[in-house]
Amino acid sequence: MLKIDGHTHTELCPHGSRESTRAMVERAIELGFDEYWITEHAPMPKDFVQRFAGPADDWQTEGLSREQVDDYLNLAEQLQSEYADQIKISIGFEIEYLAGFEETTRAFLDQYGKKTQHNILSVHYLQDDQGKFWGIDYSTDELKAGFANELKTPQLLYARYLKTVLASARCDLGSFGPDKLGHLSLIKKYQDYFGLPEVFDRSCQQLIDEIMTTASQRQLSLDFNSAGLYKKYCNDFYPGSQIVLAALKAGVPLIFGSDAHGIDQVGRGWHAMKNFLKVLDTIK
Ligand SMILES: [Zn+2]
Ligand SMILES: [Zn+2]
Repeated sequence: MLKIDGHTHTELCPHGSRESTRAMVERAIELGFDEYWITEHAPMPKDFVQRFAGPADDWQTEGLSREQVDDYLNLAEQLQSEYADQIKISIGFEIEYLAGFEETTRAFLDQYGKKTQHNILSVHYLQDDQGKFWGIDYSTDELKAGFANELKTPQLLYARYLKTVLASARCDLGSFGPDKLGHLSLIKKYQDYFGLPEVFDRSCQQLIDEIMTTASQRQLSLDFNSAGLYKKYCNDFYPGSQIVLAALKAGVPLIFGSDAHGIDQVGRGWHAMKNFLKVLDTIK
């Protein structure tokens, strides 16, 4: 199995540590990674703010600004060529799936996709019944402000999230569309704060199976993401055992990602994650 860190951020990330991307690459080399995928958050669509109901700081710090995109690509390309004999660096974006903004997203990928090798598609925002977007991983307050009722019947919140992920998996984002779905189960980031159930119920499991069928048909991989293990109220990896088993049954590949936003997060949890995946594979 290739040792890949397939989800990492850079010094340009507005909510990151600002630590040097070069030092992150050097850490990956030191840890013996074969591949390192740089996947910075793409800029949010300009008119997203009109559809967003959460705190301004959330969407304003979510991704690169438009003006930073060229700097980002130059930085990544520089590191890619400079370290080519030590590690295979891939360049891409963590793309936001936002229903109603598919065309903007496709246009962005059409413009910059040629410079990328691997892009991730992630759901960090869900719509409420009025169609307004709220962030699900910015703060407990924001999640509660958007979905207070569903937090009392969490399987409904899970279903809302999984339906959005299913729509993201089905979405055609053009010839440079993402080839990987980011941190499925991000909706559980605050599970220990809200006392959310560990297990997805039957109707959620059906949605999970549909996501896996779609991922398999569209040749998408899953982000096998260790970041949740280290979040105060999550304490589990994304996407968790239940979704991993569904992925293994459907033959959907899982690619490790630390989701590092700083040097010490690079490769975090690799051995535990890799070996646990092997165990799950034997019981699928
Ligand atoms: Zn981030
Ligand atoms: Zn993400």
